[in-house]
Amino acid sequence: MGRRKRKMKLESDPKTVKRLAEEREDENWRFRSFLKGSDLEIEELDAIVHRHYEDVASRIDCCACGNCCREVTPILSEHDILRMATGLGIGTSEFVQRFVVKDDDGDIVFRDSPCPLQSGNLCTVYDHRPDDCRSFPHLHKEDFVFRLVQAVQNCLVCPIVFNVFEGLKDELWHQCEDDWNGDGHENMRFL
Ligand code: SF4
Ligand code: SF4
Repeated sequence: MGRRKRKMKLESDPKTVKRLAEEREDENWRFRSFLKGSDLEIEELDAIVHRHYEDVASRIDCCACGNCCREVTPILSEHDILRMATGLGIGTSEFVQRFVVKDDDGDIVFRDSPCPLQSGNLCTVYDHRPDDCRSFPHLHKEDFVFRLVQAVQNCLVCPIVFNVFEGLKDELWHQCEDDWNGDGHENMRFL
């Protein structure tokens, strides 16, 4: 399957991204079904996702966004808490008392949302931030095909995920439709 050379225009405003992702939510779930049923090897899809991710992440400024810190709640480990408390120059007991609760699933999370350690769009403990925050939006990981539900949901929150998903649809799905239509076949397979 050929790679498209042209660079897509990116949407970087979180409010616009949320609106567009809501409008395209049905389409995104259909694309998820397409990927689940596609013949692509797991590693092959991962390589395509990583290529899109590197391109999009290099063109979107997280410091001008900060939306994940407002919309997504990271799960915290004891190590995360120790690291953040150290970064703030306070003890872990004080940190837990001020910032942390156990949620209904038994996970340790921040007491408040948006994250109480965010200031403007920035993280006040950036060098000491939790592993979950470092890892977001998780597109550098392997086994993308098993994390598609999370990816569709994150399209609503994260401009990087939204644009990667749009790029994947363009490369893997819409081109398929073009090929079918170009051959005069009825376009029934993926829609
Ligand atoms: S700890 Fe920092 S990076 Fe993590 S959610 Fe809070 S502000 Fe964002
Ligand atoms: S990871 Fe996504 S949501 Fe978070 S700041 Fe960067 S672009 Fe925004």
